[in-house]
Amino acid sequence: MDMLKIENDISLKAFNTFGIDVKAAQFLTIQSVDSLKVLRQEGFLAKKMLILGGGSNLLFTNDFQGLVLYNSLKGVEIVGEDKHYIMIKAWGGESWCDFVDYTVKNNWGGLENLSLIPGTVGAAPVQNIGAYGAELKDCLYTLEAFNLETGEIKEFSNSLCAFGYRDSIFKNKEKGEWFVLNVTFCLDKNPNPRITYAPLNNILKNKIDVNIQEISATVKQIRRSKLPDPQELCNAGSFFKNPVLSQEQLNNLQNRRPNLPYYNLGNHQYKISAAWLIEKAGWKGYRNGQVGVNGKQPLVLVNFGGASGSDILNLSKQIQSSLFKKFGINLEREVRVV
Ligand SMILES: Cc1cc2nc3c(=O)[nH]c(=O)nc-3n(C[C@H](O)[C@H](O)[C@H](O)COP(=O)(O)OP(=O)(O)OC[C@H]3O[C@@H](n4cnc5c(N)ncnc54)[C@H](O)[C@@H]3O)c2cc1C
Repeated sequence: MDMLKIENDISLKAFNTFGIDVKAAQFLTIQSVDSLKVLRQEGFLAKKMLILGGGSNLLFTNDFQGLVLYNSLKGVEIVGEDKHYIMIKAWGGESWCDFVDYTVKNNWGGLENLSLIPGTVGAAPVQNIGAYGAELKDCLYTLEAFNLETGEIKEFSNSLCAFGYRDSIFKNKEKGEWFVLNVTFCLDKNPNPRITYAPLNNILKNKIDVNIQEISATVKQIRRSKLPDPQELCNAGSFFKNPVLSQEQLNNLQNRRPNLPYYNLGNHQYKISAAWLIEKAGWKGYRNGQVGVNGKQPLVLVNFGGASGSDILNLSKQIQSSLFKKFGINLEREVRVV
């Protein structure tokens, strides 16, 4: 039982980027797959549980009356390669940013557009992280996950993960059932830079032979100029998802808002900008006490210091109902509320 050093009444303030000061009744750092197996044998995994990575996509509204499993599974290894591709397995507790930097430095293409997204490798498939014209699913080959109830270790192919826009089987149908242990990526030894996404294209379009190091550096530069750093201003990135509309819904909204920006997803589906809607509804830069809406990127809700999770949740609900009244749009949360 040496490996099970369960601590009691641990503050989670330093473990979530919203900086919410709540406590976990029990807290355990997971450093090996064996410790998960032992936990299960000892009956601990029958309790209320939360898997925690970097806490960058979570909003705590209460103390957590259960066991927090803090993922600290480490390691990166090459598991296969040929002339064209390299397969790399990264363990779930690795920092996503550091892992991407490592692949970019080695000129293995695929993850460069996802530079500087906070959090862990293990959480990245949960919501199929995406940014600057790329999504995790584009490069994920397979992952291994531990079933907290049965103890089964299962390999999930890309298609088994049922990836969607900020969605997967782990956030949806089988939420909370699987602990993602490690992820294997298939990366390109002859990178194929993707710069079609407008903000990237504006900066890089006139450059000849753009390499992935330049893409990564440009993504970081744009992100730093647009998004508040959680170390300086507590936030969890985009609080809401961009709404996806049918042709009919889009037409209706365009009749009232001809300037509405949208992106054609194909199949008569259109993604519209939640940030644009929030700004048009007058919320950009709004502040009430210790909570507010970021002045540069209105999709980001912020804690100026000392706010509770409920303060932030209440603000998010006000924004949701205001957008419903104004545009008839239901904004869905991207952040998980605990
Ligand atoms: C400034 C900022 C910018 C951001 N930008 C982006 C962006 O551009 N694109 C984007 O997609 N996201 C973005 N995010 C959101 C966030 O970084 C990602 O969702 C990230 O993958 C969360 O990782 P985490 O380790 O912090 O997960 P956590 O917040 O710890 O957990 C998130 C969820 O995943 C579950 N989970 C965590 N680890 C595991 C595991 N090993 N197995 C199973 N379930 C697990 C948790 O239980 C929880 O439900 C941003 C966040 C911030 C603060």
